[in-house]
Amino acid sequence: MNNLLVMKFGGTSMGSAERIRVASQITAGERGARPVVVVVSAMSKITDLLLDSLRRAEAGDDVGLEADIEKLRERHVAACRELLPPDGHEAAIEAVHRLVGEFQRIAGGVLMLGVRPPSSVDEAIAIGERLSALLMAAHLEAWGVRAVAVSGADVIVTDAVFGSASPLMEQTREKARQLLLPLLEAGVVPVVTGFNGATADGRPTTLGRGGSDFSASILAASLDAAELWIWTDVDGIMTADPRLVPEAAVLDEVTYSEAAELAYAGAKVLHPRTLAPLVDRQIPVWSKNSFALDKPGTKIVSKLDAQEHGPRAVTSMASVALVSLEPASAALSGTKAMARALEALSASNAEVLMLSSSSYRQNFCFLVRKDELAAVLECLESTLSLELAHGYLRPISVDENVGLLSVVGEGMKGTQGLAGRIFMAISRENVNIIAIAQGSSELTISIVVRRDGLEKAVQAIHAECRIGEQAHLHKE
Ligand code: ASP
Ligand code: MG
Repeated sequence: MNNLLVMKFGGTSMGSAERIRVASQITAGERGARPVVVVVSAMSKITDLLLDSLRRAEAGDDVGLEADIEKLRERHVAACRELLPPDGHEAAIEAVHRLVGEFQRIAGGVLMLGVRPPSSVDEAIAIGERLSALLMAAHLEAWGVRAVAVSGADVIVTDAVFGSASPLMEQTREKARQLLLPLLEAGVVPVVTGFNGATADGRPTTLGRGGSDFSASILAASLDAAELWIWTDVDGIMTADPRLVPEAAVLDEVTYSEAAELAYAGAKVLHPRTLAPLVDRQIPVWSKNSFALDKPGTKIVSKLDAQEHGPRAVTSMASVALVSLEPASAALSGTKAMARALEALSASNAEVLMLSSSSYRQNFCFLVRKDELAAVLECLESTLSLELAHGYLRPISVDENVGLLSVVGEGMKGTQGLAGRIFMAISRENVNIIAIAQGSSELTISIVVRRDGLEKAVQAIHAECRIGEQAHLHKE
């Protein structure tokens, strides 16, 4: 299929009848020129509401559950009424009732049994996206653009890691092409639910919170799309969080590596796993703002025409914890301690945000998200129980009063003096540096500081390295 465009609309871009109307207009406009596949998130806050309902159900709170379900139904029925002509909304409202009924049935099971099996949770929370896809497809149809809602479960094949599944790309490619290409050839816009998939034997899964971006990139790769556009509520990828740094600017272009690094380091604009499926096929991605159609957005490409020297952006993460391990006796080598700790980390499935050790005999530390800390500690304590019990290892220490900042840019490679300037800028703010890491690709320098110095340090680095003042940037 030539010139295929995949467009993903996030929760805020689908957040109300008015926003769905804008998303549909964008779709209709592009559809005039080329085939389009749309991928949608649930309406903003709906996934949170669904998860909350299931927690209430598990706790036996049937009144709270009923109230949540009523909110779910009411918001989507109201959107149907606003979006569709009076003689056309009955069928859509009925379909909303059916999907809400499906959710109610699963939540009812959770209420009765007092447990939330992960596979039931995945089946239930995907209903948020199925509702928004239904609304958008019905709206497009009502305005003369042929469209059909498709569940991600019918096109994305995943492993069985419920709540954070990974795609099986070959099987997905086959399934997606089989179902979606005939629709596209017939001139129909498939409106696919983001976030969800299913195992090869048909059990529903989800790709993790914020996973609709990932769904869109999986489909773009599977269909050999010409481009992927990700519509959000910000102007693109920025040099820093504008709430922390008023001078932050939108980047015209970044590389896949830079964008992925920024996403993993806390820039909220893209789901971290989004770019991996696109790199091989070099499918360009645009991050665009559906609230500001005149802004060009950021283009993500494999290589920049002229790579700038120095950092492109600085990000920060506040809800993190630093875990430190230290051998206490010669009976346990530092290397062995690290090997065992990494084994435990991999078993916990947590993401390691940075890792540092100045000497293999000494202290070794790594940073994880606070909400993954309990799982990490549990795995560490069980994997290292003997070493801890025999005193070969000092008690594991945890510091939750820290923050991570990451300075990112491909052009930092080989640029001398940069680390010095970054550290000077931080020290001028009287912020103490607790741990540092830079991989040999020199793409990112990660620095752990006291939590209360994090914002000051980000501002100081942005100013010192004149990030945002370089070429290829448009200032707001
Ligand atoms: N609706 C899902 C979430 O809120 C997926 C997404 O928005 O990308 O996590
Ligand atoms: Mg979202």
